[in-house]
Amino acid sequence: MKLSVGFATDIGQVREGNEDSYLIEHPLFAVADGMGGALGGEVASGLAIETIHDLFSRREGDLVHQVEEANRAVFARSQTDRTVAGMGTTLTAALVDDGRVHLAHVGDSRAYLFRDGELALLTEDHTLVHRMVAAGEITPSEAEVHPHRSILTRVLGMDGEVDVDEEWLDVRPGDRILLCTDGLTGMLSEPQIGEILEASLDPQAAAERLVSSANRAGGIDNITAILLAFDEDGAGGDVAKPTTTSIGIAGERRATTAVETAPERRTTTTLDAGRAPRVSSTRPVRTRALVGVGIALGVIVLGLVGLRFYLDRQWYVGVDDGHVALFRGVPETVAGFDLHDVVTETEIRASEAEALALYRNLPDGITADDRESAEAIVAQIRADVAKAARRAST
Ligand code: MN
Repeated sequence: MKLSVGFATDIGQVREGNEDSYLIEHPLFAVADGMGGALGGEVASGLAIETIHDLFSRREGDLVHQVEEANRAVFARSQTDRTVAGMGTTLTAALVDDGRVHLAHVGDSRAYLFRDGELALLTEDHTLVHRMVAAGEITPSEAEVHPHRSILTRVLGMDGEVDVDEEWLDVRPGDRILLCTDGLTGMLSEPQIGEILEASLDPQAAAERLVSSANRAGGIDNITAILLAFDEDGAGGDVAKPTTTSIGIAGERRATTAVETAPERRTTTTLDAGRAPRVSSTRPVRTRALVGVGIALGVIVLGLVGLRFYLDRQWYVGVDDGHVALFRGVPETVAGFDLHDVVTETEIRASEAEALALYRNLPDGITADDRESAEAIVAQIRADVAKAARRAST
């Protein structure tokens, strides 16, 4: 079977750097989405990709072993280098062996199979919302817009050991396999992805359309897509077998042994800040001013009532007195007034939670839609802290 590859990555419309890394080294393909501060995300995804690339080149172990080693490498660096402490990364990799594909996966990047016009998800998101859906607490459509849809329950670099999901798949001519980061799936629905794959037969054109569509839909995160197209030998004879080896390390995009560097799309759309023109009145009138003061006071009173109403409906998880706590309100203080109250302080030590990559921003507050969601986050933190403690004691 003939394999051709399409690829595109983009920083998106909002982020300041691209923390996604990728590997295109026929027959091994992977995407990684790093997280953990300005430097950590780039280092984590890049190190994971470099590690599997290196081990694969030396034919050391199978794909799952290579991903486990990538986890150890990221964890070890995170433990020894203070500038990247607590970093982590997703990794979704596909190794093609003629008609079979071996997938290895950790995190919320995804692999899809597009066959006969149908898009099927091959991987499971290791996210809090996926667990909540599985437990029947929220619906899949609620999960898509859930404020914590990016909280991961499994990631490379959190711990010395990681469970790697793996899967084998027999592919047929006409099949397409898409590897992508959540910057794509967060912006495009599965029907939208399916439509693009249906419409663009050329894998490179399809990958570019996927990424540009995610950008048009908002591009709130880095976007990376690798599309593997399996066709009958000899089909579309003018398309060469991929000779490209391209390794994209976040922060220092480069190509090694590149016969041809996979095209890199960097959109530089400038978002117009839409500044309102300044208008100043030059004719102060006393009565008008008094009416103005009255209106202003009314607005302030209404504003305070509205603020109270609003704050009573906001929830978040943060830190109080060194412990993880459930708050009502928002994690802000304005003019000396705290816009929040502690509702429950837990027994969980904040330092133990913050030691985990997922919760390092806990002091800033993890906001929730309602009390149940906030309590679910607390329960997740408790479970993850306990797990880390068990690991540490064995
Ligand atoms: Mn992402």
